[in-house]
Amino acid sequence: MGLKITALPSGFVRGVAGSGVTLQRNHDRTFDLQMMFFAITGGDHVVLVDSGTSDEAFVREQHGYKSFQRPEEEEPTRVLAEAGIDPADVGTVIYTHLHWDHCSNPELFPNARFIVQAEELAFAMDPVPIFKKAFQRTETAQPPIVSVLGRVDTIRGRKEIAPGITAIPLPGHTPGSQGVLVETDAGGFLLAGDCIDRYENWEGDGATQAHLPSASFINLIDYYESFAVIERLGAEVIPGHDPRVLERRVFG
Ligand SMILES: [Zn+2]
Repeated sequence: MGLKITALPSGFVRGVAGSGVTLQRNHDRTFDLQMMFFAITGGDHVVLVDSGTSDEAFVREQHGYKSFQRPEEEEPTRVLAEAGIDPADVGTVIYTHLHWDHCSNPELFPNARFIVQAEELAFAMDPVPIFKKAFQRTETAQPPIVSVLGRVDTIRGRKEIAPGITAIPLPGHTPGSQGVLVETDAGGFLLAGDCIDRYENWEGDGATQAHLPSASFINLIDYYESFAVIERLGAEVIPGHDPRVLERRVFG
């Protein structure tokens, strides 16, 4: 049996300003953003890509996202159970980056190693002020990964994590953002993290821009180089926040 990717929901925000999702484009529209994490099954242990969000009350209080909703049916242990996954069977969690909406709940996985780019971990501990909240590095909260630091393995650059599962650095959105390339029987898929929020980011503006960065970035030059890396991979892109990913749900 080959590898299979299952998208798991973890809350959402509706009506986000278009130009916040696609830099300098879509000023006159809004987008819905779905928070997600992903399970890769079919290998010798379950691999997760990201680990979801905290509960709604915590997110509203700590992050000021009054419009964030995480209905009961999107609570992480429940979505994992529905996907037939026992958290104790998760052997590896690969973090695309350490923004709060991707890396909460690590304590749910007692037998997992947590893999992150070294540069991302360093930045999460000491972000520039405007990004402190995004990394949950505040006076009232701490980055979720801190609770499992003893089980964190940092990597530098591209690395095969398990057969058919490769971490691909895609900096720009954050310093150590990475995607995860998964080779399935149905071809290669790239879990792009927040390098590609929605399909609109990858599809561009249909005129002068082949791809559109998010308005949330640390380095636009790196961001465009990451687009070029993705083009060369030739894999199907799975965006990090597009509700349409959940409609399809299973890849591979
Ligand atoms: Zn992010």
